[in-house]
Amino acid sequence: MKSTHITGLSAEELSQFVTEMGEPDYRARQIFSGVHARRLTAFDAMTDLPKELRARLQEQASISTLRLESRYLSSDGTRRYLFKTHDDYPVETVFIPEERRDTICFSSQSGCPLQCTFCLTAQLGLLRNLTAGEIVEQIIYALNDSYGVGVPTPKGTNLVGMGAGEPFLNFAELMKAIRIMNEPSGLYIVPNRITVSTAGIVPRIRELATISNRPRLAISLAAPTDELRDELMPINKKWSIRELMAACKEFEKSLKPNERFTFEYVMLRDVNDSDEQAAQLAKLINRYDVRAKVNLIPHNPAEPLPYQPSSMPRVEAFRKILEAKGVAVFVRRPRGRDILAACGQLAARSAGGDMPAASATRSDERRIA
Ligand code: SF4
Repeated sequence: MKSTHITGLSAEELSQFVTEMGEPDYRARQIFSGVHARRLTAFDAMTDLPKELRARLQEQASISTLRLESRYLSSDGTRRYLFKTHDDYPVETVFIPEERRDTICFSSQSGCPLQCTFCLTAQLGLLRNLTAGEIVEQIIYALNDSYGVGVPTPKGTNLVGMGAGEPFLNFAELMKAIRIMNEPSGLYIVPNRITVSTAGIVPRIRELATISNRPRLAISLAAPTDELRDELMPINKKWSIRELMAACKEFEKSLKPNERFTFEYVMLRDVNDSDEQAAQLAKLINRYDVRAKVNLIPHNPAEPLPYQPSSMPRVEAFRKILEAKGVAVFVRRPRGRDILAACGQLAARSAGGDMPAASATRSDERRIA
């Protein structure tokens, strides 16, 4: 792809690009609004621009670079999109409708270099980092597909960076995408509505704390002890729980009065879900006295991963122990399991192995550009 990917340019960069084309500055504002506020995916649709300019833009730039390969619809309404980048790497995005508010889960990398043993994405390894434009495009696509092109985004819609990849290993592009989406003249999705989940890249947790208009933070913990966490999330060998908690304490200083951060705890049957481990987890959180809540996530089974989800009575018992020890705890309901859209299941696969992807749409019919 030689042309400039307009979707990944900040308003200032777009202004410079348009100036270099010999056009007045207000054209940049029209284009920015066309891409991000009206969510148009082709220059031809920007009828407020002269035809000749549209033709030149078409030659020199692109809005959409992701190609939709498949679109899966779960029985619970969750949608999973499998895209390919211009250089043919998979990108997955999930739209989760909920009664009170919808959530879009986006990817920050194609594949992932970390080796969490309960996650299917790990098996892809790192294919490549996504650009800011590719991150923003995922959101634009999911919004257009779910609400209609250009239809205002409902106020409560949240974004979570919990798809494929470790967002903090692609920090600069991630933060650029978040800044672009925050523009009032564009998508206007404020960072407060975005949660980014890390496996525990300690220096970036500390860096995030210094950013004034930052997204919310979630940390995938998965184990209450180093011994078990080393096994489930090998990144723990680089930054132990003690170092992680020290960074959390630092991050805590940046929390707003009613804000908390989140520990995600995937629940694996007979691995990390005993009463004793619940007590250890509560002790850990209470020892550091962090303003955090715990999300318990029953594991989403995916062949060939060697784990089973904890039973619901076990999850409940675990939750009660945490609660009794004063820890704020929630149980996350699994969504989109039948289309491999749930946490830890993203690995660019067809839904349900042999199951026909009934609602899959071919890329040529649903190409974004
Ligand atoms: S859980 Fe997240 S960080 Fe770990 S391998 Fe999967 S995608 Fe990567």
